[in-house]
Amino acid sequence: MVIVGAGLGGIRVAENLRNNGYTDPITLVGAETHPPYDRPPLSKSVLLGKDDRVDLKPAEFYDEAGITLRLGSEVTAVSPSDKTITLASGESIAYDHLVLATGLEPRPFPGLADRVEGVHMIRTYDDAVALREQIDSATDAVVIGAGFIGCEVAASLTARGLKVALVEPAPTPLALALGEEIGALVARLHTDNGVDLRTGVGVAEIVAPDGAVRAVTLDDGTELPADIVVVGIGSIPVTGFLEGSGIELADRAHGGGIACDATGRTSAADVYAVGDVANWLEDDTPRRVEHWNHTVDQASVVAHQIIGGDDAVVSAVPYFWSDQFDLKIQVLGAPRPDDEVHVVDDDGKKFLAYYSRDGILTAVVGAGKVGAVMRTRPKLQTPTPVADLR
Ligand SMILES: Cc1cc2nc3c(=O)[nH]c(=O)nc-3n(C[C@H](O)[C@H](O)[C@H](O)COP(=O)(O)OP(=O)(O)OC[C@H]3O[C@@H](n4cnc5c(N)ncnc54)[C@H](O)[C@@H]3O)c2cc1C
Repeated sequence: MVIVGAGLGGIRVAENLRNNGYTDPITLVGAETHPPYDRPPLSKSVLLGKDDRVDLKPAEFYDEAGITLRLGSEVTAVSPSDKTITLASGESIAYDHLVLATGLEPRPFPGLADRVEGVHMIRTYDDAVALREQIDSATDAVVIGAGFIGCEVAASLTARGLKVALVEPAPTPLALALGEEIGALVARLHTDNGVDLRTGVGVAEIVAPDGAVRAVTLDDGTELPADIVVVGIGSIPVTGFLEGSGIELADRAHGGGIACDATGRTSAADVYAVGDVANWLEDDTPRRVEHWNHTVDQASVVAHQIIGGDDAVVSAVPYFWSDQFDLKIQVLGAPRPDDEVHVVDDDGKKFLAYYSRDGILTAVVGAGKVGAVMRTRPKLQTPTPVADLR
């Protein structure tokens, strides 16, 4: 058993295999030098200085579970015909079963070819530490992109005392994920906490005359001072190492990534994919999801496939969360930005909203409403008219 990518998906496949009686050798190959760690804290507690790296398993776990960790080892090629992978060092490793769990890399700011001092992107622990180390000597930060990671970073940098501008071309933060009505409530959260939120405007230029960032110029001509810039404009599935392998990729219109069936099987025999890089068929539609719980669910399904069982399924009710300032924003179900939104509770800070399509509940989104969100789960497991909840 060989697993490429020593992140959440990779370690969860390995752990599920061992917990379900798999006794063959397991090798977990990761490009980073760190053992598998949790990414959600990177934009939150790690930046706030409250946590350092959050390892997913204690150091002794790997020996005890008989899992060989090959860290600092980038996989550069896969050959399904002779069932081997190749590492950057040239070494090749044979597999009977292969799981691909290589995640994402952040989308760079267009045209910013070289490394510019003060410009950051956050995917890895090392990225988060590089940003954290600059906070104490900085005054002004500009966060480009108000998706989940951009919003979290803006909140964390504000809490660390920086003057933060958050720039987003859409009319509100999180508009693509949650629609503009709830996006406006998230906008309120940020402006109430002192973020200089600039929506409906793009970034024209990152100004770095001598290799270090000085400012960000917006499309409307405004120049925002910046000694830190964080680019949070989305991520790209890591699939370059599959070039020439014949393993099918999903088309970009459906999210790209590695094309899989409904149980994680790729187009190559005995090769599976899980996590952010994987594009599984869900209800006959290719879908790539970039959330923690979804990765954990997929890892369990794939481990069951490999062992020979077929009883595990991806959770029928998707879930993810985001921590911004002192609020936990939770999303249960599958909201679409064009769903009808029913805000049923809003005290000016915390809120609860139902989403519906053709009158049927599709999702619940809450901020600071943990109990209320979770109580809705049974209603999302069967078609429920939203009118029944109001
Ligand atoms: C800053 C941040 C905050 C987040 N916050 C939340 C949150 O609040 N809620 C939520 O639901 N989700 C959140 N997520 C998403 C969640 O962390 C991911 O869904 C999850 O980590 C996906 O796991 P994965 O195994 O697919 O990928 P990853 O955890 O990214 O692991 C992939 C690993 O593969 C390695 N790799 C890549 N290419 C190769 C190669 N060629 N050879 C060997 N190794 C390779 C990478 O180095 C990496 O270590 C957040 C993500 C980030 C980055």
